[in-house]
Amino acid sequence: MNRVIYADNAATTRVSKRVLDAMMPYFAENYGNASSIYSIGRNAKKALEDARERIAKVLGAEPSEIYFTSGGSESDNWAIRGTAERLGAKGKKHIVTSAFEHHAVLHVCEYLEKNGYEVTYVPVNANGIINPEDVRKAIRPDTALVTIMYANNEIGTIQPIGEIAKICHEAGVLFHTDAVQAIGNVPINVKEQDIDMLSLSGHKIHAQKGIGVLYVKKGILIPNLIFGGGQERGKRAGTENIPAIVGLAEAMEAAVENIPAKVEKVSKMRDRLIDGILKIPRTRLNGDREKRLCGNVNVSIEGIEGESLLLMLDMKGICASSGSACTSGSLDPSHVLLALGLKHEVAHGSLRLSISEENTDEEIDYILEVIPQIVEKLRAMSPLWEKIVKEEK
Ligand SMILES: *Cc1c(COP(=O)(O)O)cnc(C)c1O
Repeated sequence: MNRVIYADNAATTRVSKRVLDAMMPYFAENYGNASSIYSIGRNAKKALEDARERIAKVLGAEPSEIYFTSGGSESDNWAIRGTAERLGAKGKKHIVTSAFEHHAVLHVCEYLEKNGYEVTYVPVNANGIINPEDVRKAIRPDTALVTIMYANNEIGTIQPIGEIAKICHEAGVLFHTDAVQAIGNVPINVKEQDIDMLSLSGHKIHAQKGIGVLYVKKGILIPNLIFGGGQERGKRAGTENIPAIVGLAEAMEAAVENIPAKVEKVSKMRDRLIDGILKIPRTRLNGDREKRLCGNVNVSIEGIEGESLLLMLDMKGICASSGSACTSGSLDPSHVLLALGLKHEVAHGSLRLSISEENTDEEIDYILEVIPQIVEKLRAMSPLWEKIVKEEK
């Protein structure tokens, strides 16, 4: 069998053995409906509320502040659209966000803009960091919500969330953060950091796909998302996905167990990748070198097409992703890289490698051996590269 080197953990992760083991009893043994009164139903209910308590503890929240959702996208949609619609009815029809959010945030904002809301997109600097003062300047008397991601999924930059939350509260504005990429990489405590709403997803932290959390601080009203039964305190009806929820609790505990050790181990491999790739002429690192997720590498390689590079990496068994959105049927380069001020053709030749603790030094060596060979091949066939070389002379 051909070997597979998985370096796309920002897209999704493998379900860990620990998570899988925790989930197993809830498929065919304690499969009861958590609303039923007999014992297998009560066991499911207990598992549900235990998981809620464990997740609350990881975040520094109360169990009553945790809502289970189908993932990061649903949590983002619920927080933003729910808050906008509730406060919009009171005349607050302005949202502040950034230009390089995940589409689960940006597309909700676009929807709101089509429906009578105004959105301010605060800029990011060339290193992919938001200046909290820009958030302060963007806030208006009619601002309903500020939503800024904790860590960017493409370039891995970590934002000054505590400072931004403080500015929002000084102005009396609610603050939401998409922390899907941040959990397990930076210490998060919603009370200490004064975060009003926070979105999480299971499949980025070794739990399964289709499960997530929205944290909503006590006292903040969030409109109902799904009408039906009384699940999630009547706000999001539907029989709970107990195995996924139990798995998520396990994954969250595992993710925060020893963050410093993980960061040390993974960032060493990341730095080797960055330094190795940057030895290739005409390459650049995208995103701040220091304020960066320990597993994120994002580089632009001039004179090549990101998609061709990905296909050739795939032939070598390496799973990676490109900064461009071609996979979604669009030829536009990544909105994140454009927000940093990259030119279209540079943004097109981008590569994201997102590694985890499961990767090994030997795999990093292999990636570093393969990439320069592929780049050389692609550049040799590239009219764009020919032009760059000519211009240099
Ligand atoms: C993956 C991701 C999401 C979407 O989460 P899903 O669970 O796939 O819906 C949202 N925001 C960020 C930053 C992500 O990386």
